[in-house]
Amino acid sequence: MTMGGEVTGLPQQDLVLVGAGYAHLHLVRQWRMAPIPGVRLTVVSPDRELTYSGMLPGVLSGLYSADAATIDLPQLCLASSARLISAAVTGMDPDSRIIRVEGRPPIPFDVASIAIGSSPCLPPAVAGVSEVISIKPLGDFESRFSAAVSAVRSRMAVATHDRPVEILVVGGGAAGCELALALERWMVRRRFPARFLLVESQNTILRGYSSRTVERMQRELRARGVALRVSQSIVGVDRREPDSSAGEFLLKVQFEDGSVQGTDLVIWATGGGPMPLVEHLGLPRDDRGFLLVQKSLQSISGAPVFAAGDVASLLGCPLPRAGVHAVRQGAMLWNNIQHWFQRQPLREYRPRGFLSLLSLGNGRALADLAGWSFEGSWVWKWKDAIDRRFLQMNRIAPSPLEEPGPGATGEGGRVSSGMRCSGCGSKVSASVLKTALGRLEGTTAGGIQGSRRSPDDAVVVDREKFPVDVFSVDFFPAFLDDPYLMGRIAALHALSDLWAMGARPVGGQALVTLPPGTERQQSELLYQLLAGGLHELKSAGAELWGGHTTEGGELLVGFSVAGCLDGTAPLLKSGLVPGQSLILTKPLGVGAVVAAIGQGQVSAGTLAEALHWMLRSNASAARAARQSGVTSVTDVTGFGLAGHLLEMLESSQVSARLQLQNVPRIGGCRELFERGIRSSLDAANRKRAEGRIEVTAGLAESDVALLFDPQTSGGLLLGVPGDQAQQIVTLLRQKGDEGACVVGVIESPGSGPGGWRIRVE
Ligand SMILES: Cc1cc2nc3c(=O)[nH]c(=O)nc-3n(C[C@H](O)[C@H](O)[C@H](O)COP(=O)(O)OP(=O)(O)OC[C@H]3O[C@@H](n4cnc5c(N)ncnc54)[C@H](O)[C@@H]3O)c2cc1C
Repeated sequence: MTMGGEVTGLPQQDLVLVGAGYAHLHLVRQWRMAPIPGVRLTVVSPDRELTYSGMLPGVLSGLYSADAATIDLPQLCLASSARLISAAVTGMDPDSRIIRVEGRPPIPFDVASIAIGSSPCLPPAVAGVSEVISIKPLGDFESRFSAAVSAVRSRMAVATHDRPVEILVVGGGAAGCELALALERWMVRRRFPARFLLVESQNTILRGYSSRTVERMQRELRARGVALRVSQSIVGVDRREPDSSAGEFLLKVQFEDGSVQGTDLVIWATGGGPMPLVEHLGLPRDDRGFLLVQKSLQSISGAPVFAAGDVASLLGCPLPRAGVHAVRQGAMLWNNIQHWFQRQPLREYRPRGFLSLLSLGNGRALADLAGWSFEGSWVWKWKDAIDRRFLQMNRIAPSPLEEPGPGATGEGGRVSSGMRCSGCGSKVSASVLKTALGRLEGTTAGGIQGSRRSPDDAVVVDREKFPVDVFSVDFFPAFLDDPYLMGRIAALHALSDLWAMGARPVGGQALVTLPPGTERQQSELLYQLLAGGLHELKSAGAELWGGHTTEGGELLVGFSVAGCLDGTAPLLKSGLVPGQSLILTKPLGVGAVVAAIGQGQVSAGTLAEALHWMLRSNASAARAARQSGVTSVTDVTGFGLAGHLLEMLESSQVSARLQLQNVPRIGGCRELFERGIRSSLDAANRKRAEGRIEVTAGLAESDVALLFDPQTSGGLLLGVPGDQAQQIVTLLRQKGDEGACVVGVIESPGSGPGGWRIRVE
């Protein structure tokens, strides 16, 4: 028995935030300083990079770069020891306290909060028309707008017709006005002639603003050539391919009064209504469909669910949907969620008037406060300072190797758990297993006696149904706080060994070490891991044949897998001959990214790219390799490209020449190497290659480091006939392995025994 004092443990309760709205960003920032003991914070958001709406008009006007207006959500979450699940929520069951998430198992919660904003609510008839552009999602608005303008202009060029592009902006609220002026600048900067029309259904633009501000905005719109039509609702938009006659409009906009207006593009920037998700949350809503909450921001249903920002409607206290309220509600939300866990009374959100600053797109802005109105470049400077401060606040990144905050209880948090047993006593309890396995759907163990549902001492394999002749096992500590993705990656990593041997996966067993925790938390974690693993096993045509689960200090996950060669010869590391080419099917850099995750130093874009590659199966690359008569194969994992290539060279007794600039890499990993971020295996991998690798002088260390970077779920390294290499790369890319590249050639070994080596140029 081992005495266990402080060991890594699971949290006792879960706080889940749906959507990364402004109020939730506040909460995540506060969590960094004072997490609630025993509670894990999870953010579920489909977006990793958040565009700050207050700065979007500035981006479109060319006053900021897109980057300057972006919040990196993974960094913020890492800095605050919050778990991020990058997926869209599809529904909620407040009674059974689960949140349904697209493409993965539901997430349980003790307390949840919703901040998913609002939707411009495009009428169904125009949804899907590429010339009708919704302001949301904000993140790709500019690229959607730009693509639509290009399409209109190329149509005009074909028709050799030269007239301004007609752009109709729907919605005369703050967003619509700012947008019309920003897009006017966007077109002017590119010297694209354009005419704008701003349409508002109410009898004035900027309803709720002082009359002086409305007048100033009207004057500005006029001066900038933006025509205005108020008291006009759009009832339909017709899209008709114009006749060959040049210059006809593609869209005909129909107004309530029966009039029709031709236009090239429609920008939908109305405040609109609730997000479609709101209908699937099982919570009371107001007559417009927004979530009805008390002034404490808790749902009026009494469920432990809060809502803030545009999605929430305060009972008896109608508020304009503005970012200012969303931000201010953050403080009350944080206070009340803390109070909820501490069983203290909740407080009420008391709205106050606020300063509104509107960008005019040309380095000037308009301010509206309590009936006062100001305008000028100094107002823009004021707005710019406020916006930059907001961005800066949300750009906290942990310093390198920073410890998680006190009381942080993600899968890697620390709790005191008293004495724990090791040896067989560290097995996870039977009921944890039963609960987790009982929820896994899909494969029954056809052909296997002793299935998951009726456990026996061991799995008995029916060799007729499951002829197995290749086995492998792989497992490692979890590096993501998302167990479903970890399960998928661990299964893909293990299955990769089978694919590299040219074998068809048949079955696998899970190996899991769970941190101590309550039965509920352990079985949930196990379920999420196994559900991820099972997803990949099933996609590979294999079954889950049970496994072994034990309790330990940190979360470890892996699979032992079995495959069948179907009477073919295995693909081996050996068999390389001079004249062959080497193909690598996935980019390198995963090791540096994993190290950067541990240090909170990874950007949202780099993380997304690394995850994309880790979650790419080697199945189709292996099949393509078989079809193309590839002779030698291995998968690139922990020893890095250099280590695994050296194994191939040793068993084939040949040398290789690598062209470093052709070695594919994850975007952003060079920067990580330049900043000195390396996997802890880097040194061992270099040592292993010592005396066997010759690097041409002058190559950048940040490029050479790629060769020793260990890969999780890395690609295949293929030895192929030199004259077929490009053809095989094309085939691999067609099948979805877009990262495949020829990275080097096989040469004769140097003289003397053991003359094989890698030359890097
Ligand atoms: C161009 C423009 C300029 C604006 N300027 C200002 C301004 O200057 N001042 C001001 O006060 N207001 C301004 N607004 C309004 C302001 O942006 C909104 O009121 C504010 O963003 C609402 O904040 P929120 O926190 O409710 O939601 P949001 O900021 O909209 O955040 C909601 C988040 O939830 C996510 N989400 C959506 N669906 C799901 C799902 N199914 N699962 C998980 N997550 C989901 C979204 O992707 C998003 O990241 C502007 C709006 C626009 C469009």
